[in-house]
Amino acid sequence: MPTEGNAPVSGDGGEEGANGDTLPTDGTLEAVQEALVAWYEDDHRSYPWRETEDPYEILVSEVMSQQTQLDRVVEAWSAFLERWPTTAALAAADRADVVGFWSSHRLGYNNRAKYLHEAATQIETEYDGTFPDTPDELEELMGVGPYTANAVASFAFNNGDAVVDTNVKRVCYRAFDVPDDDSAFAEAANHLMPDAASRVWNNAIMELGAVACTQRPRCDEAGCPWRDRCSAYATGDFSAPDVPTQSSFEGSRRQFRGRVVRTLEQFEALPLDELGPRVRVDYTPTGKHGRDWLADLCADLVDDGLLEVDREAGSGSGPVVRLKR
Ligand code: SF4
Repeated sequence: MPTEGNAPVSGDGGEEGANGDTLPTDGTLEAVQEALVAWYEDDHRSYPWRETEDPYEILVSEVMSQQTQLDRVVEAWSAFLERWPTTAALAAADRADVVGFWSSHRLGYNNRAKYLHEAATQIETEYDGTFPDTPDELEELMGVGPYTANAVASFAFNNGDAVVDTNVKRVCYRAFDVPDDDSAFAEAANHLMPDAASRVWNNAIMELGAVACTQRPRCDEAGCPWRDRCSAYATGDFSAPDVPTQSSFEGSRRQFRGRVVRTLEQFEALPLDELGPRVRVDYTPTGKHGRDWLADLCADLVDDGLLEVDREAGSGSGPVVRLKR
């Protein structure tokens, strides 16, 4: 473990970018890398997906953890893989069952379950059951964006770029004075990562951001290995980059979408006016949160491919909705 000290890093040459001379370069970079990897390997939180290199298992953990705290993901991840242990099993599953699982485990947007189901189908039908191993190819899978593709490439195949998430940005901002700018963060994160080591490096730097360089940093308690190089530690300015937050409006819509799906798992089909009171206690057909509001919510779920609407049925109780199977 490095000794405590106060000197921020200054560069001694190397490429100039948005980060100027704030990043460690040839003279110090290797020591910075080794210190962080040693810190991570010495002690880190244990999660079952850190013990596997199976790309399917890692993809499931990544998708689940997008909106759910990791401690809650552990149980859901194990149960999901017990029920659908392979992409072949998931592809053969009824989509409504997958969505129902997602909703009952409160894993966030149900369309992530739909996309995961479709990605498994792609793996089976387009890739002969074998995952591609590069971020670009992984991004071809349904619902897999650049972040998730890179995470799977890193953790399954040790073949990714540097992860640049909120935690990594905060670490770079504090430790090396990286400006609050996405391209500067990406440049810094990739500069810091050792060659061909994305698996351990991305785990390590994300762990640093999650347990040491938190909003209220725990530099000494967590034994941060970069204390002797960190600009924030030297100056005492532990501010963090601005982070966009989810609006309460979107949060509540997501919550009610989840309730719609969970309710419809219990019923074959329901007209809106019978669904409404089960979704919110203040539902009345003509009220502020009445039939129009619920129809709008259901339209989102139809767009996501999770629900279907029968406008002919239901007579005076509004259109009938059911989970799409
Ligand atoms: S010394 Fe503190 S502020 Fe600096 S990188 Fe480590 S945890 Fe973050």
